[in-house]
Amino acid sequence: MPKKKFVLAMMMHETNTFSPLPTPIESFARKGALEGRLAITDAEGTNTSLGGFIEVARKSGAEFTLPMAANASPSGFVTNAAFEQMSSAIVAEIARGCDAVLLALHGAMVTETYDDGEGELLARIRRVAPNIPIALALDFHAQMTDAMVSGATVITGYRTYPHVDMADTAIRAGRTLMRAMAGEVAPRMIWGSRPLMSSTLMHTPSREPMRTLMNMAIAAEDSGVVLNASVFGGFPQADIPHLALSSVFVCDRRSAGGEVIMNRILDGAWERREEFMFRPEPLRDQIARAKSLTDGPIVMADHGDNTASGGTQDVMSVIEEAIAQGLEDACAGPICDPASVEQMIEAGVGGTVTLSLGGKVDMPAMGLRGKPLAISGKVKCITDGEFKVTGPMATGSIVRLGRTAVLDTGKMLIVVSERRSEPYDLGVFTHCGIDPSTKRYVIIKSRQHFRAGFEPIAKHIVMCDGDGCTASDLGLFKYTRIKRPLYPFDPDMWLGRNDV
Ligand SMILES: [Zn+2]
Repeated sequence: MPKKKFVLAMMMHETNTFSPLPTPIESFARKGALEGRLAITDAEGTNTSLGGFIEVARKSGAEFTLPMAANASPSGFVTNAAFEQMSSAIVAEIARGCDAVLLALHGAMVTETYDDGEGELLARIRRVAPNIPIALALDFHAQMTDAMVSGATVITGYRTYPHVDMADTAIRAGRTLMRAMAGEVAPRMIWGSRPLMSSTLMHTPSREPMRTLMNMAIAAEDSGVVLNASVFGGFPQADIPHLALSSVFVCDRRSAGGEVIMNRILDGAWERREEFMFRPEPLRDQIARAKSLTDGPIVMADHGDNTASGGTQDVMSVIEEAIAQGLEDACAGPICDPASVEQMIEAGVGGTVTLSLGGKVDMPAMGLRGKPLAISGKVKCITDGEFKVTGPMATGSIVRLGRTAVLDTGKMLIVVSERRSEPYDLGVFTHCGIDPSTKRYVIIKSRQHFRAGFEPIAKHIVMCDGDGCTASDLGLFKYTRIKRPLYPFDPDMWLGRNDV
């Protein structure tokens, strides 16, 4: 019997439509090769959904190709040219003929033209391969649409945030698809949503209220009531009509039992909607609280400007306030500022510099101008910014910060890099000779992913409401395209049992 042929592809982007950062094809290539053998080597064995799909393909004995391995940090709209390049490479390979398609997608891609990039990709695939089995592994922050559900055969989503089950998510989808291809099961997907924009600071499945809801989905899948069950928190920083909290169940044929559980999950989310809301407090008070704590490390997470939500990673408000309040024995970063890196490299290790640090990017959709911070210190070290992740999130993959330098102000060590990268692994500091576990304060730009690497060393965690286009105060964003009513914008909205 001839070997089966699979097409694997990755096209991942979480689009923050308020972010000023453009998303051309170059942004997708920064995390490694865009296709072929090199891209397979990059992903194989890593805890990523593409790594998981490679494992599925290898175990099934199938041949496979990887025509596109595109993954960009969250940022603004994906350019039309980038979307056309990625989707046409995937569609063309599928059109050549294959037995199955395994796609590592995010589920929240917005392009200059399409509100639902993933749905558009699937529609194009269906035009050339109407009946091909397709498995999707999605991020927990996906915004579900009919186009995604009707275009795919099987959908699974991450069950963790920070996302430490990326490979497993793909393996769950792959397993169901393999069983379907063997004729053991006949997947049929159902999905639903509630008009609720949960805060990314409040909806992690590791804590209530999402923990109970996610556990219901996990139990439904583990007990075999359904083939796969996923809950999606959604991503609030996108001004698109289909913003919601959603759930997708993959049933074996028609499963009334699955539908009952899925609606129980969604109703539970709606009933507990207030628990999903984040209520901001002034940055000044948060820094003062951090200062009052006695034992470190005190991890201070600046969630107003985190790269993994589309932030510019160069807003200085938290570091500025920390300096103003006299915090000492701190490390901070990485701040993305290529010009300051260049200046530090010119000065050399041991050289003294005065930088106009960060604040290089304006955020017009937020009405914010970039505001650099004048700061002096010595250049402590210079690196190539590359390290291998050893922590639990995306384990084994390579982080590429670009050229990186450390500024020592005497009270604070600030990592400055050429590229943006969410700090979820200690390597961001250790690769340049800083041991954050010995520091009193660790200031990082992250909302949740930092917990993967930094929670184990943290004595305290203080959330900091810095400025930026990933602010958790939704009142700072001007939404014009979301579908109303939507909680929390319409707090008094009534939801009859069947009116969504
Ligand atoms: Zn996510």
